[in-house]
Amino acid sequence: MEIIYNPGFLVECINKITQEGSAKVGFVPTMGALHNGHLSLARKARQENDICVVSVFVNPTQFNDKNDFKTYPRSVDNDLKMLQDEGVDVVFIPHEKNVYPTRKLHKLDLGGIDKTMEGEFRPGHFDGVADVVYRLINMVKPDRAYFGNKDFQQLKVIETMVKNENLDVEIIGVPIVREPDGLAMSSRNQRLNRKERKEAASIYKILKQAADVYASFSPDQLKSEIERHLNNTNLLECEYVEIVQEDDLKLVRKWKKGCKMRICVAVWCGNVRLIDNYRIVTYKNYDDSIK
Ligand code: AMP
Repeated sequence: MEIIYNPGFLVECINKITQEGSAKVGFVPTMGALHNGHLSLARKARQENDICVVSVFVNPTQFNDKNDFKTYPRSVDNDLKMLQDEGVDVVFIPHEKNVYPTRKLHKLDLGGIDKTMEGEFRPGHFDGVADVVYRLINMVKPDRAYFGNKDFQQLKVIETMVKNENLDVEIIGVPIVREPDGLAMSSRNQRLNRKERKEAASIYKILKQAADVYASFSPDQLKSEIERHLNNTNLLECEYVEIVQEDDLKLVRKWKKGCKMRICVAVWCGNVRLIDNYRIVTYKNYDDSIK
């Protein structure tokens, strides 16, 4: 496994490994503190391409809260070991000054889907996310880039950015990987204490139950029920619940036959902000996450 710190050496290194122009490059951008969710992206990237590049970069421009950036978990040595065991070819760990020679963000067209949910509660977040992914894609020049459904709105924002900016890369969404009790894996879970960790599993249970009985409620009633159940726990506090169409993230006001939707939530558990989502397909519910 090659470890590259300098973007100048990156393309040279990838070319050396592929040795021929036709080899496909799969890319997985991460902020490190890796877990099995990240590894599932790397695994898929390896399976579907000739070489797999994973970046580890805690991107300062996507944190609207300075303290969240400061306390974001970092564990590069352990990350490298996990990536090596997974058979990743190249790990790219750029220095901030190489990613951002200036702090001026690109003006990227995100089509407005960056304004709701995470965009509303974390102003500027998606400008930072889209900008860093745009920069990393231009450095790595992958054929395919892999993103988790865990951050479903982020996946849609990146798809929109890639389309609107005419980037020559295919964006692939990967199912959510969960802990055995249902909690979606997240680097932030490390910051939960024992009681909080236990309670955090209720998020998944409440979403799943809601999806099972969705047809008995209107979308607005279902949102209120989910919020009520989340806030009825001891430690969870719901920031938002939205039910959105999968393809364009438009808010769902009425159930429509054959519509694929996601219930998306952001929930505070102590000082830790967690997000999750669960799929509803009208008249046919199923859980596409892996436990
Ligand atoms: P992050 O390091 O949090 O920026 O995440 C890097 C990538 O891993 C993003 O595309 C995330 O959506 C994805 N990811 C994070 N957690 C999970 C999970 N539990 N299951 C699947 N993908 C995930």
